[in-house]
Amino acid sequence: MTPVQSRSVGEYQKLLEQGLSLDLTRGKPSPRQLDLSQDLLSNPVGHTAADGTDCRNYGGLQGLPELREIFAELLQVPVAQLVALDNSSLALMHDSLVHAMLSGVPGSERRWADEPEIAFLCPVPGYDRHFALCERFGIRMIPVPMTPDGPDLDVVEELVAGDARIKGIWCVPKYSNPDGACYSAETVRRLAGMPTAAPDFRIFWDNAYAVHHLTDEEVELADVLAACADGGHPDRAFVFASTSKVTLAGSGVAFFGSSPANVAWLLGHTGKRTIGPDKINQLRHVALLRDADGVRAHMRRHRELLQPKFELVERILREEFGDQPGVRWSQPKGGYFVSLEVPEGCAREVVRLAGAAGVALTPAGATHPYGDDPADRTIRIAPSYPEPADLETALRALAVCVREVLAAAAPQG
Ligand code: PLP
Repeated sequence: MTPVQSRSVGEYQKLLEQGLSLDLTRGKPSPRQLDLSQDLLSNPVGHTAADGTDCRNYGGLQGLPELREIFAELLQVPVAQLVALDNSSLALMHDSLVHAMLSGVPGSERRWADEPEIAFLCPVPGYDRHFALCERFGIRMIPVPMTPDGPDLDVVEELVAGDARIKGIWCVPKYSNPDGACYSAETVRRLAGMPTAAPDFRIFWDNAYAVHHLTDEEVELADVLAACADGGHPDRAFVFASTSKVTLAGSGVAFFGSSPANVAWLLGHTGKRTIGPDKINQLRHVALLRDADGVRAHMRRHRELLQPKFELVERILREEFGDQPGVRWSQPKGGYFVSLEVPEGCAREVVRLAGAAGVALTPAGATHPYGDDPADRTIRIAPSYPEPADLETALRALAVCVREVLAAAAPQG
């Protein structure tokens, strides 16, 4: 018996007896992180925008210019090409797909709903809610492997060049969910310039973690909109982001940035469903954050709360699995997740055992289209919400479950 197997004997039974109730599923900010933005609720901000607009009233579909100015710099989108709308970037991604389905996008030959079939490339591991959107709209998902520099571009280029049904690709370019990968400048350049069979191919550039650094090495992305323009495809990228993990996850502001043609397209359709965004909330955000440096300072306070949790995850995983073949994990420099890889064929069972012991984990497979991780090895860990003591308990329990599964899978005799 290997040391790993012998350590597992009886451990899992003891774990079950502890009657834990812990949750490592969703990447939510902790209450202490939300407290950083408490002034949003208490600061009197009046109701007048910099240009004199009465924010209590209808209108201003594109969002307050002074808020867009703050985020234009951080998201690498010119102010005039940035929209500040609603509270959820996921909602804007959803709406963008709906508009593409019902009306096509600039450059479409027909509505996406009228195409016999459409498909999106899905770098894996990836974000389950992107995959849920594809399922919702009947978009076939084609997994593409991730590398530390972003999706494998040799695979991507070949697929999009040869198949006009492929209309888009999901990208979380910085501190990606769940493996923390950051796209290199070369990846951005190739994505922006590659020939695609579909004339209306779109990069869904979900820059959810643009300012969410965990170390002093603050990763800078290449400017995707500029790269697309330089590559001769100015309308190729839709940039999405939000303040969900900057201020209040349920009461933030979401952003859409793109070419002038795409911005006019989105606003044209959005104007049918709303007369304008919540400008009072946008004013509150301007008062709290002030400018791009204000956002950076605010994010350093988030980092002070988050970094120790990620360091704890790293320490525990190293202690538990440092010499365990087949177990690897990501060491993200930002974002909200750690991706744990267990030996092939084990992830589902680990998650099942953890659930039975009261530790909720994101379902194994959620990081892949259709909930199907063919190697059954990726588990997503979300350390942001639990307090450190609970996080440690949950991770030690997870380690027991991994050992239990490995011991059961090991050849006997
Ligand atoms: N995109 C990614 C990659 C995420 O990880 C998340 C949340 O976990 C979201 C989008 C959700 O963003 P929002 O709150 O703006 O809808």
